[in-house]
Amino acid sequence: MKHLSPNKRQAGGEYPAGRNVENEAKQPLSPKPQRLLGEGLRNSANAYPDKVAVRLGQTSYTYRELLDSALKVASALQDRGLNRGDRVVIFMDNSWPCIVSIYGVLLAGGVFIVVNPNEKSSKLKFIIENSGTRFLFTDGRLSQIFIPVLQETPLLEQVIISNNADIIQSNETDCLGFDELLALEMHKIPSTHVISSDLAALIYTSGTEGKLKGVMQTHQAMLFSVLSLIEYLRLSFTDVILLVLPISFDYGLYQLLMAVNLGATVVVENSFTYPSSIYKKIKEEHVTVFPGVPSIFAAMLATNRRNKLYFPGVTRVTSTAAHLPVSFIPDLKKMFPNALIYKMYGQTECKRISFLDPEYLELKPASVGKAIPGTEVFILSKEGQPVGCGESGILYVRGPHVMLGYWDDPGLTAEVLKDGLFYGDRVLCTHDSFHMDDDGFLYFEGRSDDMLNIGGFKISIIEVESALYSIPGVVEAAVVGSNDPILGQAIRAYLVVEDGIDLTENQIKRNCLESLGKMMVPKTIVFLDKMPKTHNGKIDKKLLISMV
Ligand code: ASP
Repeated sequence: MKHLSPNKRQAGGEYPAGRNVENEAKQPLSPKPQRLLGEGLRNSANAYPDKVAVRLGQTSYTYRELLDSALKVASALQDRGLNRGDRVVIFMDNSWPCIVSIYGVLLAGGVFIVVNPNEKSSKLKFIIENSGTRFLFTDGRLSQIFIPVLQETPLLEQVIISNNADIIQSNETDCLGFDELLALEMHKIPSTHVISSDLAALIYTSGTEGKLKGVMQTHQAMLFSVLSLIEYLRLSFTDVILLVLPISFDYGLYQLLMAVNLGATVVVENSFTYPSSIYKKIKEEHVTVFPGVPSIFAAMLATNRRNKLYFPGVTRVTSTAAHLPVSFIPDLKKMFPNALIYKMYGQTECKRISFLDPEYLELKPASVGKAIPGTEVFILSKEGQPVGCGESGILYVRGPHVMLGYWDDPGLTAEVLKDGLFYGDRVLCTHDSFHMDDDGFLYFEGRSDDMLNIGGFKISIIEVESALYSIPGVVEAAVVGSNDPILGQAIRAYLVVEDGIDLTENQIKRNCLESLGKMMVPKTIVFLDKMPKTHNGKIDKKLLISMV
């Protein structure tokens, strides 16, 4: 196939010469379809210019302010040489400059990459070099991490710094304060020739083996996911969404994207580190949507046992990123008496895979539901054959939300993107074990490497963890495999128990015996004061395994 050179390409949208535009203008216009992510902001700013888009601390930012600031960023980026498809790293806290930068990059026709501000220099450097990034948005607070990167990689040409912009002086790199950038005069409204199959973002994720991979997502894939999620979560422009998850994590990022697309309000926090201030926020800000991960819910339930938590104003609670133990559900329902509770499952490679319709929470509490609207899933055996109801296999995902691949990594891409139903169709192999019941509901059994082999018996880590979570007093549980000279592998459980509760190793084992087969009772129990977590709030299993 002959490739077109960029200067021969012509993006749609401009009228070909000779067309009678005047006459056409008299025809009633149907609403312009949304094709790009940034158009969501333009539409909301048009419909609700004075509505609060973002609440941060005590400060409110309207949709007009968000669009104006993002356009300024976009214009400055273009003036400074950003071209369509150029990657831009945003290494910042959940903050106003971070949000403005994301939309600024989109409106400039760039591809944004949000990097968690807790990452070390080596990871930041890897991402900048892997993605070939020339532009960095960051924060003076993070100078100790990004300055070494500036010194080591000649790639970076422009650095935009919020807070203490004067912190660095570099001859090679052009540095500018974020506020200075906003104060620049905008010469012209930035225009791009971006189309919906262009990339909108790279989302870096590390697999179980630890290698960072840049998930390539186009505008159409991300917009599709935004709309699919909005549909099943039954969100509207009146919602107030609380964002405590990092924006570098796709679960956090999509809270922002959904809110902006709808014209809703997002209340931005940096983390769940100070739970009592979050509980206050939920009430004061009239939060209606509370997205969390199981470790957040574990902390809330532990507090709730001492001091009752009660949030009647919340109407949607969502959980994904890790398995939500069934034993959490009754207390969550009391804590959020008016909320639909969504158990969900996703992978960065396609954003979200499934959700359990809240109406089925009581009937199928252990399930993660069915495929999200507009997509499909199926389970195949290791040999690639369809499995029957109740049989385990590997979950595959098909739909417009599936990534294009990993940036610059055809080898790793081939491990997860497989041929689909017809030539050119591609499906995502999750490498996760699942089974489906007679009604088509999905049950997560674990990552392929979450299955332990104890003397020839296949044991699901999720099943053992669920049994541990149902023991009164257990706040968090994580199971890993350890080497065993006789059985090959043995089960080791790490537990955090509630303050003031005295649980012994023997009591735990006895409790497990009541609900699990003998082979599934952990051989070793290790009590921890605190469970190690990744930046995304998942339990850090890699660290636990290295502690064995
Ligand atoms: N995609 C996320 C993950 O990687 C979770 C989600 O939003 O469903 O865990």
